[in-house]
Amino acid sequence: MALKTADKDGILEDIQPGTCTCEEHDEVLDVFRSHETFMLTTHENPDGDALGSMLAMNEGLQQLGKDVVMYMPEDEFPLPHEYHFMGLDSVTSTPPDDWSQRTLVFVDCGNSERMQDKHLKSETAFTVNIDHHHDNTCFGNVNLVVPEASSTAEIIYGVLKGLGTQITVNIARALYVAVVTDTGKFMYKNTGSKTHLMAAELIQCGVDPYDTYKDLYEDLPFAKIALLARVLSRVERYDNGSLTMAQLLREDYDYTEAEVSFSEGIIDHLRAVRDTKVAVLVRELLKKGERKYKVSLRATDDRIDVSVIARNAGGGGHAQAAGFTSDIQIDKLIVYLRSEIQKQLSE
Ligand code: AMP
Ligand code: MN
Ligand code: MN
Repeated sequence: MALKTADKDGILEDIQPGTCTCEEHDEVLDVFRSHETFMLTTHENPDGDALGSMLAMNEGLQQLGKDVVMYMPEDEFPLPHEYHFMGLDSVTSTPPDDWSQRTLVFVDCGNSERMQDKHLKSETAFTVNIDHHHDNTCFGNVNLVVPEASSTAEIIYGVLKGLGTQITVNIARALYVAVVTDTGKFMYKNTGSKTHLMAAELIQCGVDPYDTYKDLYEDLPFAKIALLARVLSRVERYDNGSLTMAQLLREDYDYTEAEVSFSEGIIDHLRAVRDTKVAVLVRELLKKGERKYKVSLRATDDRIDVSVIARNAGGGGHAQAAGFTSDIQIDKLIVYLRSEIQKQLSE
């Protein structure tokens, strides 16, 4: 079945769904063994899994003597402050001169449209795609997509073991952060015994869970709390609380002096409200000089798959956590969300 995506006028167009039959384990290992120069990247607005997976892959390939750079487009900087303790200084916004000859490695990125940058075109460079989104479009020349994995880090861990990489404390910490953040501290549905076994091994490799917890969650800039207070004061609920929604506007960041990444985690407060079936956080995007909204969706009811709602609007994600970016007006967005939720609940 063809899916729909909203174009700039809000009119729906057909797009192809992801196929996701691409678990090319051996092929991925072959590429990492036989190619010599790499450029690693991940999705826009990178989260813990995105950055942790990229850092771990970077160090693993360096151990094999490869020439590796981690690249993110300029407008992704500053990278989220809460992940700086993992060591993000070597992530560059200046691609090396030979960027177009390097093997491009995307981690945690469901489709190549999530990274609009001329240096990151899967059509021009040989591309490796490692991810766990079930709607991944398999856009690489070689694809390793494992939807059952809790996180991309879980897949990267297997790749690094396959390559015979030593799991140093640095690699272990990056993978641990990725797993902790993508599983909501081992609490979301994607958490399985494999996730905990991996975490146990990472602790054996030298990760200190308490130190990591403090680095990740207890070193908050005051502006993050100020931003949370502002957004929590204007939560709206629809349809007997099925939809719990809040908006973050440009002026909120200005008023609280918060960085964009300080909004991460706010949606967990919304999803925790009783009767909520879908939680939505709408964030006005600050970059590229145009008014756009990043819409984050979380489902807490098994009958609802928010990745369908996101995909129909041009985004994607998982059944319980998905998102899309749109220039749709807020009142139209609310109508769309309410009708999609009601539709899925009555199916
Ligand atoms: P977020 O709401 O940004 O935390 O994202 C939740 C999930 O949805 C993650 O798995 C993202 O990879 C996915 N996601 C968010 N935005 C998009 C998008 N524009 N396109 C595809 N997937 C997305
Ligand atoms: Mn991610
Ligand atoms: Mn992920």
